[in-house]
Amino acid sequence: MPLDDPWFNPPSSLPVSKNKQGNANAHAAKLIQITDLHLFADQESCYFHGNTYQNLLNVLSHIAQHHGDADALIMTGDITQDHTTASYQLLQQTLQQAIAKSNLALPVVWLPGNHDEVALMNEHFFAAPFMTEKYLKVADWHILLCNSKGSTPAGWISEEHQSEIIHVLNAIPENEHAILFCHHHPLPIDGYLDKHILENGSGWLTNVSQYPQVRCIFHGHVHNEYHINFKQIDIFATPATSIQFEKQTVDWQISQLPPAYRVILLPLSKTEAHCTQPATIETFVEWLA
Ligand SMILES: [Zn+2]
Repeated sequence: MPLDDPWFNPPSSLPVSKNKQGNANAHAAKLIQITDLHLFADQESCYFHGNTYQNLLNVLSHIAQHHGDADALIMTGDITQDHTTASYQLLQQTLQQAIAKSNLALPVVWLPGNHDEVALMNEHFFAAPFMTEKYLKVADWHILLCNSKGSTPAGWISEEHQSEIIHVLNAIPENEHAILFCHHHPLPIDGYLDKHILENGSGWLTNVSQYPQVRCIFHGHVHNEYHINFKQIDIFATPATSIQFEKQTVDWQISQLPPAYRVILLPLSKTEAHCTQPATIETFVEWLA
């Protein structure tokens, strides 16, 4: 993708949710977030104690078994650990096969982590089930996939990209809603990974929180589950499909927690025109026991 291509195009609509059909407890959409896959070219390689390829296969079969009605899969970065083209090919084939041979029929969208190269992702993740779109819409929900990859392992959202995000938010009607995804954590988690935080995260949050449409931010990178508030915005960290890190440690410590992923249920909009407060977004982490 040439650098001058816009990050966001006009929104791509997700189809009517599968769970909406004939279901009184319907949602506008069920989204699945997976993050921090840390794959290698070699399927036997381990990241610390974890075989990241096997852990991903287990996560995908858990999703197919428990959330076959999901409407989209959102990958929030750190696909690769060894930075090889073969690791991206491995994910491309794995997801295509997993989706083809299971009951999952859903688009896969993505954004980069600090370990990723956007060019390699564009090269491998564009044909179905992958989509390169970074702006999705379903009912009155606007889903933005933002790029927090900087020039170091820490995160940075460029001035230009911040303007693109604000440009999209400006166009969202006041009675509609936005959720944002990025790789890095925008606020400290009080742990080792704060060394690699989204360095301009608090300024970015201040900017996007000017828009009451923004309801939640979901990220990865910290390899554990967190939930923090910033003004009206709920910020959720999703654990990795690979391995987890201990919380609140000054040094880097590996946790024995299992692989995990997040489920996000976007509520249907209230039909009353005067109502600007929809039901709360429901979200939870699925841990593979
Ligand atoms: Zn990361």
